[in-house]
Amino acid sequence: MSSYGHLPPYQAPAGDPRQSQPGTQQPRPPVAAGPAGYQQGGSPYPQSTPNLQQNQYNQTQQNGYQYGGTPVQDQGYFPPQGQAPMDDPGTMGGLTSQMGGMGLGGEVATTSRPGKKKHRHAYHNIDQPTVAAQAFNQSTGNAAQYVNQDTSQQMSAGHPYAGQPITPGMSQFPAQASPAFSPGLQSSGQTPSFGGSPQAIPTPSGPGVSAQGRVDPEQIPSIPRARDGATQYYMNHVYPTMEQHLPPPGAVPFVAIDQGNSSPKFARLTLNNIPATADSLSATGLPLGLILQPLAPLQAGENSIPVLDFGELGPPRCRRCRAYINPFMTFKSGGNKLVCNMCTFPNDVSPEYFAPTDPSGVRVDRAQRPELTAGTVEYLVPKEYWAKEPVGLRWLFVLDVSQDAVNKGFLAAFCSGVLDALYDDDTETVEDDQSGGEASEEKRMIPAGSKVGFVTFDKAMHFYNCNENLEQAQMLVMSDIEDPFVPLGSEGLFVDPYKSKSIITSLLTNLPKLFSHGKSPEPALLPTLESAVSSLSTTGGKIVCSLASLPTWGPGRLHLRDKNDLHGIETEKKLFQTEHPGFRKLAGKMVESGVGIDFFIAAPAGRYMDIATIGHLSAMSGGETFFYPNYVAPRDSLQLSKEIKHTVTRDTGYQALMKVRCSNGLQVSSYHGNFLQHTFGADLEFGVIDADKAVGVMFSYDGKLDAKLDAHFQCALLYTTAGGERRVRCTNTVASVSENASESMKFIDQEAVVNIIAKEAATRMIERPLKDIRNALTEKSIDILAGYRKTISGSHPPGQLVLPENLKEFSMYILGLTKCRAFKAGHEPSDRRTHTMRQLKSMSPLELSLFLYPRIIPLHSLSPESGFPDPNTGHLVVPPTIRASFSRIEEGGAYLVDDGQICLLWFHAQVSPNLIEDLFGPGKNSLQSLDPMTSSLPVLETHLNAQVRNILAYWGSVRGSKAITIQIARQGLDGSEYEFARMLVEDRNNEAQSYVDWLVNLHRHIQMELSGQRRREDGGGGGMSTMGMENAMAGITSLWTGKDS
Ligand SMILES: [Zn+2]
Repeated sequence: MSSYGHLPPYQAPAGDPRQSQPGTQQPRPPVAAGPAGYQQGGSPYPQSTPNLQQNQYNQTQQNGYQYGGTPVQDQGYFPPQGQAPMDDPGTMGGLTSQMGGMGLGGEVATTSRPGKKKHRHAYHNIDQPTVAAQAFNQSTGNAAQYVNQDTSQQMSAGHPYAGQPITPGMSQFPAQASPAFSPGLQSSGQTPSFGGSPQAIPTPSGPGVSAQGRVDPEQIPSIPRARDGATQYYMNHVYPTMEQHLPPPGAVPFVAIDQGNSSPKFARLTLNNIPATADSLSATGLPLGLILQPLAPLQAGENSIPVLDFGELGPPRCRRCRAYINPFMTFKSGGNKLVCNMCTFPNDVSPEYFAPTDPSGVRVDRAQRPELTAGTVEYLVPKEYWAKEPVGLRWLFVLDVSQDAVNKGFLAAFCSGVLDALYDDDTETVEDDQSGGEASEEKRMIPAGSKVGFVTFDKAMHFYNCNENLEQAQMLVMSDIEDPFVPLGSEGLFVDPYKSKSIITSLLTNLPKLFSHGKSPEPALLPTLESAVSSLSTTGGKIVCSLASLPTWGPGRLHLRDKNDLHGIETEKKLFQTEHPGFRKLAGKMVESGVGIDFFIAAPAGRYMDIATIGHLSAMSGGETFFYPNYVAPRDSLQLSKEIKHTVTRDTGYQALMKVRCSNGLQVSSYHGNFLQHTFGADLEFGVIDADKAVGVMFSYDGKLDAKLDAHFQCALLYTTAGGERRVRCTNTVASVSENASESMKFIDQEAVVNIIAKEAATRMIERPLKDIRNALTEKSIDILAGYRKTISGSHPPGQLVLPENLKEFSMYILGLTKCRAFKAGHEPSDRRTHTMRQLKSMSPLELSLFLYPRIIPLHSLSPESGFPDPNTGHLVVPPTIRASFSRIEEGGAYLVDDGQICLLWFHAQVSPNLIEDLFGPGKNSLQSLDPMTSSLPVLETHLNAQVRNILAYWGSVRGSKAITIQIARQGLDGSEYEFARMLVEDRNNEAQSYVDWLVNLHRHIQMELSGQRRREDGGGGGMSTMGMENAMAGITSLWTGKDS
């Protein structure tokens, strides 16, 4: 039976992950509280017992939400009693009034609080790690809760969410000097997670895929189920980084306790137990890689990163390999020698850093030294680490004021977005102290010391003096675009935005009017950016640039390169990179100057923008491109505004260098991401780096690892903070080593595997035809799944498709990857492909997970508790998500669908008018009455409206770099329905197979591999030899190569 589609909410069968969680009540919801009025500190359900509500609500659903003219699709879905006539509005009075009768509407209204979001993290108080350990123990009895329906699963003692008790030995970390990280030794049912139990997929006719290749769709691994189970689990449990060795799924919020190993938010290894030799790794088919997101945002409840100052000496480092001091370095000779965990070199300890050790070899001051106890720390660094005097970050806003930008409303929206970003602190409190144009310190949206400047451009460029002593901003026009200079000098251009608030506000408010009469259709982008970079050359900084038409004027003018006859042929890949020497040169100059750029690009009417060339600047400099492929002002302005604000307020550093070190026996083989690397082996350079950016690192063997020792990894990011401090952020990661690859298979982090594969595939897009890349993704999946069969001598019959426990959802993610706009077959504009390619290269595990498989919530069947804090725990009740398949979509249903980039509100054509009215208010009671340009929900006092807004607020807090707004997709009415269909990735779409067919196909090839009959298809396209692709890539990385190479 269907697991999600045909059951009333919260009445799942035993073993369903949606069942109530272990009775622990830790006050740690990973959620944002909802909008005003619905989040009182006390009970959100006054005067009514939950049971009573459940009954009332179900009945209400029946009365209110089922369209009269439509037969009930599934009689079991809604309770049979009380079948009032559904097509008669008079008998219903609307859901609103019924909810009012329940005491919700009035109650809520009287307690509503205007200070929205002020206390949005009020429930986020974190407990101590010890409590978490208890929680693990308590949950032992519920081991079956998260397991799949497959009975072989339920026997697994080591399922990721089985909640096994932590053995005492594992909790002793603080007492040990450098605890061995050896999950391999603990894995026999003792770790709180990660068993190695595989999932065999049964079919109606017996185990495995039948001879006809039939797979029971209900039995195949479900990403929503895995996510929902983990989401519930991590509401009640923390993630202690030395005790647990498999991070939660990427899209699941969690609170990590740094015990010396960095939080998975900063670093995720593909394998947390590493095979000792290259041969045993290649037998698994798995890549050995690390996904690094060095400035990842912390969740409320997590400790901030310690910032340590060693003065002029700087942080202690290994003399031989230059690794930074970390919890895994050990002290010898009474504290006089420091043994490096990377290269084992025994360093002398400087007198300044010396402290004696106790009899067990632990430094006596260890507990007071965060660098010896925390996996992620920051060091303030002295002058020798400076390239130039660090100052607060300079933000230069560069605004397109040419014809399209003005006419499309893009300029006005961008200006208001910048104003919001700089001055709207989002608390909506009465601002009575703002009259003098001065903001108190806590209202700064950017740190003290950082400054802003403004430049506009069309055929000419215009610089603005916003000095606080002026009456209004002065414009200086530079019409010589052949040989421009910065007329103000960088000192006059950059000002404190809070001292010059009135001048900047006036400028940005007037800009759209000022240029409304301009008839300059062609912007000159490259010369403007060259001037912008030169204005930042002495300090470094960040450019935020808007652009609304192809820059066809002046030096560096671009033209239409993307023509349909170039698609699908060998030379198509030229469209995915720039051929313009001027843009390449400027990118290098940017990074050299410590400058990075974020673009906000609107393509008018979907026209070509040469994202490959323009976005090259942001990709090389560590920035980001926000792309609105068919910008329509009323619909997209809110998203634009929110994304500008996110860009300005997220943690941002600049002038950055990154280096990754690892234990002897391993070496970095390649990096994948958006940065500049001059030569192989050189440090990665970033003009800017922000909280959302991730980098993939691949490792290869240059020797054999010692299975008695752990493998260590250290990422050092040298950068200048937005506040103007030069720092190194160290991220330390440890993995155990095993002689036996089958041991390693128990510690696979599938989302790290998917992430590194995605990043490398994106890197290959400019080298290989798309068909080769899709084939390589297929072959890689076969390698990995067949590798598992060969490595683990299980008892499964050869004809059965066996998915390793920790790779259960891997196949679906890879299918999602082959369907994404970067790699999919069929027609796709090169702008979309290139944009997606660059996104993949920098996406965090969270953002990529959502991007490859969206989260979908049915709104017509929300339980009454959903979207409100649980009165007992304070956690937001997060409703279950459903599979991304049209087969799960119900007639008359309404769904929120979010892939982390856009969030659709999809309505079935026969959705109940009452549901629409509850969401959008009186008068909005048909799909036709809705404005397709709507991007947010009104604030109403209906229960459903509050639920959906709360869920959106929660989703907004579990997301990457893109803002959450809604886009309406009405069945049969809106073009965005195409996006909805595209996001149902389990179906046959995007020029690729359905999930079921994909598994059948993989299974057939795995069987052929096991029987020695497999023919690889990596290089099958384009007339290349089968080995062609492998050989081409073998020298670079092991990722794409088969086990025999
Ligand atoms: Zn060393």
